[in-house]
Amino acid sequence: MNKADEENKFGERDRALEEIAKRLGVRAERGRRFAELTSLRVGGSIDWVVSPETEAQAAALVHEMDVAGIGWRALGSGSNILADDGEHHYVVLSLKDLKGELEFSGERVSVPAGYSLPRLCIDVARQGLSGIEGLGGIPGTVGGALWMNAGAYGHEIGTVTETVRVARGGRVVEVPGSDVQWNYRHTSFKEGELLLGATLRLTPDDPEKIRARMEDAKSRRMATQPHGSRSAGCFF
Ligand SMILES: Cc1cc2nc3c(=O)[nH]c(=O)nc-3n(C[C@H](O)[C@H](O)[C@H](O)COP(=O)(O)OP(=O)(O)OC[C@H]3O[C@@H](n4cnc5c(N)ncnc54)[C@H](O)[C@@H]3O)c2cc1C
Repeated sequence: MNKADEENKFGERDRALEEIAKRLGVRAERGRRFAELTSLRVGGSIDWVVSPETEAQAAALVHEMDVAGIGWRALGSGSNILADDGEHHYVVLSLKDLKGELEFSGERVSVPAGYSLPRLCIDVARQGLSGIEGLGGIPGTVGGALWMNAGAYGHEIGTVTETVRVARGGRVVEVPGSDVQWNYRHTSFKEGELLLGATLRLTPDDPEKIRARMEDAKSRRMATQPHGSRSAGCFF
């Protein structure tokens, strides 16, 4: 495709996206590559990367992109993505800035989608909350873990998810975890749904015992998987 064709095809979309991002106060960047954003370190150029910082901003952003017919895909830490080396003519919605703060309430913790899963495991263990210590070595975001029901060493995120916050019609909608099908590394979430965060219900336990179980899972992982190499987890 020559420059003039590209301008015709994408110019209008680019102007619409710039206007939406500016109005919502969302960072929008050009010139990024999947190779910098995924653990396999491969993948070509991306037209736009947009990075909302709050759940409300992210919900409004996807709604406006959908209404304007702008194609987008969600990206967490990129630890389970194998991207083509060619050009990616769509918007990547990065959740990495949607980190926020954890909110604890008794046995429950509310966490934004961009929060690091290993960080969450450490934080809840310190609060004496058990149920996800097996997930401590999974190098992704909470959103990525929810999307595919991440699991390891006897724990799966779906089992402890009380509600998931999803972007629908420009708003943050709370979906009961019991409405979601949590299958083996797969869920019933549909392509085009953006997960914004979740409330997990965990079980009180002695922080030292939880920490010991996390350490055990970590050593088993270190003994059976290569570390430091380019990987997407299930194959090396
Ligand atoms: C060394 C290594 C070890 C691993 N070990 C395990 C393991 O033990 N168990 C396991 O289950 N996995 C494992 N994985 C795979 C991976 O870490 C998990 O699948 C993780 O949950 C992916 O999270 P992410 O944030 O990196 O998602 P990404 O790789 O960025 O995205 C994965 C998919 O989820 C979608 N997605 C991400 N966030 C959202 C969102 N907020 N809303 C909608 N869709 C979204 C993306 O569009 C994409 O389709 C491992 C990976 C590596 C590199």
